[in-house]
Amino acid sequence: MMSCHPWNQALWDRLTADVSQLPHGILLHGPAGVGKRSLALALAKRMLCSQPTPEGACGQCPSCSWFDQGAHPDFRLIEPAEPDAGEEGAGKKGGRHIAIQEIRGLAEFLALAPHQGGWRTVVVHPAEAMNVPAANALLKTLEEPPSRVLIILVSHQPRRLLPTVLSRCRKVAVTLPDTESALAWLGSQGLASAEMLLREAGGAPLKALDCADPERLARRERFLEALSRPSPAGLSVLAQDFQNRLDEAWGWFSRWVHDLMRVKLGSQARYFKERHVELDRQAGALPLEGLMALEEEVRRAGRWLKHPLNSQLLLESWLLRYADLLEDSHGR
Ligand SMILES: [Zn+2]
Repeated sequence: MMSCHPWNQALWDRLTADVSQLPHGILLHGPAGVGKRSLALALAKRMLCSQPTPEGACGQCPSCSWFDQGAHPDFRLIEPAEPDAGEEGAGKKGGRHIAIQEIRGLAEFLALAPHQGGWRTVVVHPAEAMNVPAANALLKTLEEPPSRVLIILVSHQPRRLLPTVLSRCRKVAVTLPDTESALAWLGSQGLASAEMLLREAGGAPLKALDCADPERLARRERFLEALSRPSPAGLSVLAQDFQNRLDEAWGWFSRWVHDLMRVKLGSQARYFKERHVELDRQAGALPLEGLMALEEEVRRAGRWLKHPLNSQLLLESWLLRYADLLEDSHGR
């Protein structure tokens, strides 16, 4: 049976207490990795199920089995297409949009009578991937929705949505679970080092699960090892190797610098506690002002990181600045 993640149970109960009171448009918003998409799909499935229980869809009826096969005639899931590996722009996150054609297709779908004579449900994920024409097209549907239609928008960044779209939806916040529930769930998924990964994921359990990918863990180890024993040559190689993974490198490097600042100011490391010996040593040697300037620069860069331009140069410039700082601190 499909249901939501355990930390979203209370929210689920509130949403499904009386489905006749649900509005036409719901916006599930919150940080990435807290289970918004699963919650949206569970709700969509619950509305279509012919024998729903308080826990959700029954999982047995024909409607549920169509849904599970991705073939329910009264359901649409609208997501940006995965770019083909060979396609131009593949691997660049900036290029993934929900285009107006898809929303027009949705309007056509909703103009027809429901196949099963009951509800029709739509999930748009993530809603901020709609470009402006697409969002405006959706707005028309939200303004004059056919009866028994539920449109669920899922958004990690609701501020990027058109205010007119926002105003047509009931906003439902999906928040980070408390650490204890998150760790309990990660444990039940068989995740080792759950605490470390949850910290790195900023408390978002599904993100922590993604972080546990063995290849990613190996890259993380390599990156931290190079920062722990830095040499200009080693950092330059690192910058080259991670030029296509700037997001990842930025995440680790900014946390590393943040930890150095904390240790420098007499607190404990937050993210890389397992490297406290190296952090202690470097924080002791590095000048506070240089460290503060570097942290500020790296933090600001995070805002426009999605632009693929010159990412190698950027990473290289941080790492070389870091090497310079270390060099200076040894020279004193
Ligand atoms: Zn069912």
